Amino acid sequence: MKIGVLALQGAFIEHIQMLRTLGVEAVEVRLPEQLRDLDGLIIPGGESTTIGKIATQYGLIEPIREMALQGKPVWGTCAGMIVLAKDVGMTGHSTMRQPLVGVMDVRVKRNAFGRQVDSFETDLDIPEINNDNQSKFHAVFIRAPLLEAVGPGVQVLAKLDDDTIVAARQDNLLATSFHPELTHDPRLHRYFLNMAK
Ligand code: GLN
Repeated sequence: MKIGVLALQGAFIEHIQMLRTLGVEAVEVRLPEQLRDLDGLIIPGGESTTIGKIATQYGLIEPIREMALQGKPVWGTCAGMIVLAKDVGMTGHSTMRQPLVGVMDVRVKRNAFGRQVDSFETDLDIPEINNDNQSKFHAVFIRAPLLEAVGPGVQVLAKLDDDTIVAARQDNLLATSFHPELTHDPRLHRYFLNMAK
């Protein structure tokens, strides 16, 4: 199995390391042709406007969209979740549309928890990944987005105590508000690899 991690900006190295720890071939993706023989793709956290802009310059948006529409597993973490979303609610007073892959039937709200200083960590219940291990998933939120609304085909995987949706799946698409690559819990990466099998 070969998984690509979009390596334009943000926390891509940590995803690569996690995948390699799990014994999977993991490659950095910067060019459209590198998408061709992948079994799945991760779009990492970082800054979604920057990732979108560079991806547009490198001609990556359209091929990633095709890959997702063809049913290949694509996982967006944090900024990557924003890039995957069909709908990004207005950010501040900006009326500029950011370039997005826009395939997942969700509405995200960027920077939903406030500024960098409002970043936080919490333990989440994610029944889908619990397997034999019933422990909660320690989740790191860094200037994170949230899922304001999800379409009928979208399965909610995790919520905060106040019911805010922070992880969801739609068929071959996975989205998490937080950064599972920054902790040492491989369960979400394993879950994604199972989607790619
Ligand atoms: N705030 C960033 C954005 O809007 C996302 C932050 C992150 O990926 N940790 O793109």
